[in-house]
Amino acid sequence: MSDLPSDVHGSDKMNILKRTLNKVFNWQLGREMDYPYAAAYPNKQFAFVFNTNRCLGCQTCTMACKSTWTFGKGQETMWWANVETKPYGGYPRNWDAKILELMEEANPDGMEWRDNIYKGKTIFEGAEKHSATSQQVALGYLPTDEEWKTPNLYEDVPSGGSRNNSALYSKGEQLPTHRTWFFYLARICNHCSYPACLAACPRKAIYKRKEDGIVLIDQERCRGYRKCVEACPYKKSMYRGTTRVSEKCIACYPRVEGSDPQSGGKPMETRCMAACIGQIRLQGLVPIGANGEWTVDRQNPIYYLVKVAKVALPLYPQFGTQPNGYYIPPRWVPRDYLRQMYGPGVDHAIDAYTYPDRELLAVLQLFRKSNMIVFRYEIEKGPKVWETDSPKGKFELYDDTVIAFGNDGRELFRTKVEEPVYVRPPQHLNTI
Ligand code: SF4
Ligand code: SF4
Repeated sequence: MSDLPSDVHGSDKMNILKRTLNKVFNWQLGREMDYPYAAAYPNKQFAFVFNTNRCLGCQTCTMACKSTWTFGKGQETMWWANVETKPYGGYPRNWDAKILELMEEANPDGMEWRDNIYKGKTIFEGAEKHSATSQQVALGYLPTDEEWKTPNLYEDVPSGGSRNNSALYSKGEQLPTHRTWFFYLARICNHCSYPACLAACPRKAIYKRKEDGIVLIDQERCRGYRKCVEACPYKKSMYRGTTRVSEKCIACYPRVEGSDPQSGGKPMETRCMAACIGQIRLQGLVPIGANGEWTVDRQNPIYYLVKVAKVALPLYPQFGTQPNGYYIPPRWVPRDYLRQMYGPGVDHAIDAYTYPDRELLAVLQLFRKSNMIVFRYEIEKGPKVWETDSPKGKFELYDDTVIAFGNDGRELFRTKVEEPVYVRPPQHLNTI
């Protein structure tokens, strides 16, 4: 018992002792992995796709979340939703650089992928004392108060050269990658399939909901040990000093349940999704089979983007929590950086996004046309309106109509690939 955490008491210590390792299949890694908790799979999983190419860093999502859930005393430095500028920004400061450093120590031969299978150790497999009496179930650390204080540090700071270097700017930047670059990374809790926060909690205060896979902290059970804060590699579980318990993103579950007064009883997207000015966000629910795998749901837009078009990728899949947030990677960022961040699917994802086929172009139109969750889409074919040559062959643009349906099978909206243009009649001299 001597190496058990001294701040964990009584029966909570027994919960650590009783921990067993389980073999689970992590499809993002392409292999089985050790998980220090019993896996339990939901019927549906809350999931989302963020298109980083479109994020303008306006922080409207950040403030939508803050003004809904974390405006109280003790939550001053608590940002469940945040947008950080990569490569230097991060909330808490340097969170990913710090976890990657721990991962590198555990993987002296590198975090290697071979044939789309991850060969290195995850945060669970790399935990230093990985045994029944271990203090840490996952590689992790507790950020300092200082690191939580500055969510916008390094905002808009680019990597790759000084502004006084005229040679660098004389020809402008060109794809495939830019020499000077940054991008906005919008983040919320990933409502992981194998949550490190949940596995680490000695109080069993964290649970994953059967109906939608949303990960919640039971505020009554939590005793503020902060093991979840330490273990979450994305640092999306946060401690509140005034209540002395931990809190995290709740995926606006009343909206997802359809119990928000505005929803009319239908599942609605979260506040951060609904507020997105750049229209980068699409959220949904994907069906999960008994083995934890995504059940084929071909016309579900999230399923299509992740599993069929493979244009959206998980954030740091090598951590091993099987996060349910997916990102269309930014086109202009050096590929090595992106491969470290999103895994081996980056080149395909960027190609698919740069030269979208007919279906992908139509599905991309679904982003932010409604605040209701889209469960299914159909495409009605329209006329060819443009064509050009591309490095991948002829590119043709069709003005197709994409139709979105809700959970009751009723149409939510329809929209077209070509944005309609309305010309206002010249009635007023003052156009304000
Ligand atoms: S992102 Fe972190 S807090 Fe959210 S479910 Fe995953 S491990 Fe838990
Ligand atoms: S609201 Fe949308 S565009 Fe604005 S910062 Fe958030 S994710 Fe980016």
